[in-house]
Amino acid sequence: QVKQQGRNDFAFFRPEMRVRIANLLQLEKHLRHAVDREELKLFYQPQVSLETDRIVGVEALVRWRHPERGLVLPGELIGLAEETRLIFPIGEWVLRQACRQLARWRQVLDPGLRMAVNLSAVQFQQPGLAEMVRSALDDAGLEPQALELEVTESLLMDNASRTVETLTMLKEMGIQLSIDDFGTGYSSLVYLKRFPVGQLKIDRSFVRDILEDSGDAAICTAIIALASYLRLEVVAEGVETPEQLDWLRRSGCDRVQGYLLGRPAPAAEIEAMLARDAEVDLVSGKARAGS
Ligand code: C2E
Ligand code: MG
Ligand code: MG
Ligand code: MG
Repeated sequence: QVKQQGRNDFAFFRPEMRVRIANLLQLEKHLRHAVDREELKLFYQPQVSLETDRIVGVEALVRWRHPERGLVLPGELIGLAEETRLIFPIGEWVLRQACRQLARWRQVLDPGLRMAVNLSAVQFQQPGLAEMVRSALDDAGLEPQALELEVTESLLMDNASRTVETLTMLKEMGIQLSIDDFGTGYSSLVYLKRFPVGQLKIDRSFVRDILEDSGDAAICTAIIALASYLRLEVVAEGVETPEQLDWLRRSGCDRVQGYLLGRPAPAAEIEAMLARDAEVDLVSGKARAGS
């Protein structure tokens, strides 16, 4: 496998690679205008509290409606945006849009609702990131506690002075960090003390086989215990079955997110879901007592 890799360098010159690169350049050219042309769109995925069985937050997930290719998922979009530094304007658009949407929902539907927004490690190389976050909150009229910024473990292990400075500024503003895909990156835990971490998000690769794989179950149990000792909230990603949900509930997980509770969806659909959540129990499907 490794030997193969070396030989593949020559594949760069193969015609199909030329096509791939031409495609990428084309995609990049389009992406440069995606923000101006309003081709980017935010989807939102609900997060449900296992204490109340209610939606307590949503995660913003970006989508790109490419005029010819249709919906481009973040897997492709974010990688390209990072390589080309277009993640700076795209990230700013995402944050401002998410803050405005949250402000609206807090006003009309639920004053306690929170929003999680993903930040790429590359965005931390952008000068003025903390100021941009502050300005997005101010413009939307949101308090910093309403926002959760999702970052990865590797970012918190990055000792670059700009990263540390930005994280410190966010901390002083009162913003909480969520560690996305927790358990898949570095194993050092010192950063949990150094930075204002509020949530650990158990990666969905551990949740998937939670009932069949005792190793995955042990990892989830350990993350939930760690979060509890450190007084952090723990959110499980990728919950797809009622059995996984039961397991997580019994194990003391705080919040769940996944297709079982709702796929990422456009704002209008989430709005309907939030309104319905006030009336009907999302988990049992029964009418809520007293409503
Ligand atoms: P993530 O932050 O870990 O987001 C969760 C991903 O899991 C989302 O994929 C979501 O659609 C998917 N997912 C949620 N529930 C389930 C489930 O039950 N089963 C399965 N199989 N998948 C589930 P998506 O939207 O394709 O996003 C992929 C990644 O792209 C995100 O992973 C995040 O790292 C990144 N991303 C998305 N939006 C943004 C953004 O606005 N900015 C940045 N920097 N990154 C973003
Ligand atoms: Mg995330
Ligand atoms: Mg994640
Ligand atoms: Mg994940």
